[in-house]
Amino acid sequence: LIEIPEILIVNAAQIIKPLVDPPKDRKLDILKGAALAIKGGVIAALGDQGEILSRFQIGPSTQVIEATGKVVTPGFVDSHTHPIFCGNRVDEFEMRLRGKSYQEIAQAGGGIRSSVRGLREASKAELIEHALPRLDRFLTYGTTTLEAKSGYGLSIEDEIKSLEVIRELNGRHPIDLIPTFLGAHEIPDEYRSNRQRYIELVTREMIPRVVDEGLAEFCDVFCEEGVFSIEESRRILRAAKEAGLKLKIHADQLHPTGGAELAAELGAISADHLEWISERGIQRLAEVGVVATLLPGSVFFLGMDRYPPARSLLEAAVPVALATDFNPGSCMTESMPMILTLAAIQMRMSPEEVLWAATAGGAQAVDRKGELGTIAVGKKADLVIWDVPDYREIPYHFGVNLVHTVIKSGKIVYPRSR
Ligand SMILES: [Zn+2]
Repeated sequence: LIEIPEILIVNAAQIIKPLVDPPKDRKLDILKGAALAIKGGVIAALGDQGEILSRFQIGPSTQVIEATGKVVTPGFVDSHTHPIFCGNRVDEFEMRLRGKSYQEIAQAGGGIRSSVRGLREASKAELIEHALPRLDRFLTYGTTTLEAKSGYGLSIEDEIKSLEVIRELNGRHPIDLIPTFLGAHEIPDEYRSNRQRYIELVTREMIPRVVDEGLAEFCDVFCEEGVFSIEESRRILRAAKEAGLKLKIHADQLHPTGGAELAAELGAISADHLEWISERGIQRLAEVGVVATLLPGSVFFLGMDRYPPARSLLEAAVPVALATDFNPGSCMTESMPMILTLAAIQMRMSPEEVLWAATAGGAQAVDRKGELGTIAVGKKADLVIWDVPDYREIPYHFGVNLVHTVIKSGKIVYPRSR
């Protein structure tokens, strides 16, 4: 029986298949000179070109992509972003360049709290209008799935508004968005003198409402000195878990607080940042199988020099994901390739490790292990074709966009004209 595919990719220099359960020393399978057929939005076949061409016929509606000298990878799964905000924080960027620290700016009313003021004033339509070009940029740089957090609302109404915006964007844009409730991102100004009351608002009112309306899959907390303590984070995350949400934690970013140990204790899906993770924290993540989501873009953008200990995490067999941490204050980039380069240079991760961490690792960090971030028959066709013949050139050739074509759910979504 001859089948007619919707898309046929031929003569690919490399098709990169991240392994779902990789051994410690090997993360990818590489097919050379191979072909890949897409039918019904999923990968119908891949491998030896002769076999694929004998099974599939090019029909009038088949789009043939000539991939000579090009690499095919899964689309990136960017598992940590804050994309719902209004305007930007370029003034603070300049203040930092003049010597003010991120924490000094935050204490003067800037930082997350300035984004909160902007978000509260914005309508849903305005927030969507601001977010859509950002999603386009993510797609342009090869991201096909995005975890998206609320967390600039910090009131019931404004957190719900942010999550509704994420839901609407998910329906309107080719990128799939996975929503995370981050009501515990900061204590809002009006609760500065009564933080316990704000924590009660999060646990007793926001979480039940978010769950009732099915607006989030994950709950996250910014566990950090001066933000939410370990004990406060535990209270919030326990309430979220009891209500049926999966857990993520901003852990050990600026100080060693024991956030990674808390992630393991609560069975979180991921612990994120981890610049100051302890030896014990690394062991606990390995024991429980919590994904370590590393965000080197925020270390770079804050002008700091302490990167997360990627080598120790990999050595301990902790699953490592890489994500942008896209947000207006501490990491203003939608580019996963930039993050791969930073991870390679600053954390000594190999090209193989960074590619795995941005695809299969990201999928594991959003609880989609084996479902996203790999290339296999029957999986959704979320693919990127790169203008390079060797995947190692993706982190190597930095600061430029090497993406040739992005395919999402079996459709070419970038460039738009194809
Ligand atoms: Zn973050």
